[in-house]
Amino acid sequence: MSNHFDISTCPVCDHTEFELFKKVPDWLVSKELFDIHRCTACNFKFTSNAPTEVNVGPYYNSEEYVEHSDTNKGLIYSVYHKARELMLRYKLHIIKKRVEGKKVLDIGSGSGYFLNHMMQNGYDVTGVEISEKARDLCFDKFSIKANVPQDFLDKKLGNDYDLISLWHVFEHVYTYEEYFDLFAKSLNNKGKLILALPNSNSADADIYKEHWAAYDTPRHLWHFTPHTIEQFARHRGFVLERKYRLPLDPFFNAMVSASYKDSFTFLPITMLKALWSYLVSLIQLDKSSSLIYVFRKA
Ligand SMILES: [Zn+2]
Repeated sequence: MSNHFDISTCPVCDHTEFELFKKVPDWLVSKELFDIHRCTACNFKFTSNAPTEVNVGPYYNSEEYVEHSDTNKGLIYSVYHKARELMLRYKLHIIKKRVEGKKVLDIGSGSGYFLNHMMQNGYDVTGVEISEKARDLCFDKFSIKANVPQDFLDKKLGNDYDLISLWHVFEHVYTYEEYFDLFAKSLNNKGKLILALPNSNSADADIYKEHWAAYDTPRHLWHFTPHTIEQFARHRGFVLERKYRLPLDPFFNAMVSASYKDSFTFLPITMLKALWSYLVSLIQLDKSSSLIYVFRKA
C-alpha cells in the first residue's frame, strides 16, 4: 500500500491527466516539500503526495495550528482571536439571510466558538470534530459535546438538518465523496450547505506564491477556486446559490505568509499587500482570499 494519498481521477471533471503546478513546503510543521498538481482539463489543483489519512496525524502537531489550538500569544494570534468575534457575527448574518430553520450541523467544529454563538442565538447545534483536544476544549468552555467524525459517517447524527457548515474544513477532508453523499442525505429539501474555503486563485495567492499560507500542504488536500468548487459541487447534486468574501482572511493570510517568507517582516508593507488583495476582491469577488459558498440541493 502506498504511503501517499493517490488521486488518479480528477474529482471535479473525471479527467486523468495532471501536470505539476507548484512545489510547496510544509512551512508549519515538517518543512518537507509537497507537490501540487493541476488537472490539465479543468485546472483543479490538489496536493498530489500528501500522506494517507492514517499517516497524517503528526503533520497536525503544532502549537501554532491556530484552527485547533486556543492559545493567545503573539500578535498574529491575538488579532486572530479578536477577528473571530467579528466573523462569528458576520457568519450569523449570512445564515439568517440564507437558511430557513434552526437545525445546524457544523463539521470541523474545533473548540466550539461557532456552535456556541449559534446556540446563544437560538439554534439547535450539533458539532463534529476530529481532534480530541478540541472536543475537550469545546466541552470545558461551552458544555457542548462534539461528536467524532465516525458518528457522522455512521449516520448516527440524524438528518433533516437546515444547515451543514464546514468553515475552512473541507480542504482537509480525504473521503470527499462519502461526505458529499452524506451532506445530501442529512439535509432536508430546503437545507443549505455552507463551505468556507481558501481561494488558490486569489490576489494574495498571486503575491505570495509558494509562501501563500493557505496552501498549507500537506494538511490542505484540495486547492479550490470559485470555478472548481462550483463544478465539484454541481457534479454531486448541489447548486451554488451565493458567494461571500471573508473580509479578514487577506490580512490573516498575509501575516502568516510573510512570516514563512522572511524571518523579519515589516508589518506596514505586509498590511499594504493585504489591503491590495482586499481591494481587488471588492472589484472581483472571485479574487477574494477566501470565500463562503452557499449551496442548495439541485
Ligand atoms: Zn479536472
